[in-house]
Amino acid sequence: MSDETEKTGEPALPLGFLQMCIDRRFHRAVQERFEAETGLATQQYWLHAEVGGSPGLAKKRREAPDYCYENFPALRDMGWSAHGSKCGGFPGRDDDYILKKLRKIVKKRIKRYRSTHHRPIVHHVFFATDEGIWYERFPPVK
Ligand SMILES: [Zn+2]
Repeated sequence: MSDETEKTGEPALPLGFLQMCIDRRFHRAVQERFEAETGLATQQYWLHAEVGGSPGLAKKRREAPDYCYENFPALRDMGWSAHGSKCGGFPGRDDDYILKKLRKIVKKRIKRYRSTHHRPIVHHVFFATDEGIWYERFPPVK
């Protein structure tokens, strides 16, 4: 546990932020995996759902991650995700196309929501399909 305090002086829990597509088939699985990878409980992270997830509509709507990153020094884990097996945000596109878009936007998010010496940020990437969840994190586990 961090002993860093919020601006209010209250002890701060580690916090997280998770972004995903609204698709009802995968949001629960992605949340559960995010919780397993971060150790965060549901009430410790913000959830931002938009059609197409991180490479879809959410790509243009940075207010939510900006707000969390800028206002909460206890934010440590940021999750970015999308899914295959057909996504309404990417009509007619296959899984490879969507995964490629996801990985491209994650590179930008890592630059925008930077780790600092006092505040290491771990970026978690999830790509859900009918077969399961592909996962990657930055920095990788040593
Ligand atoms: Zn979708």
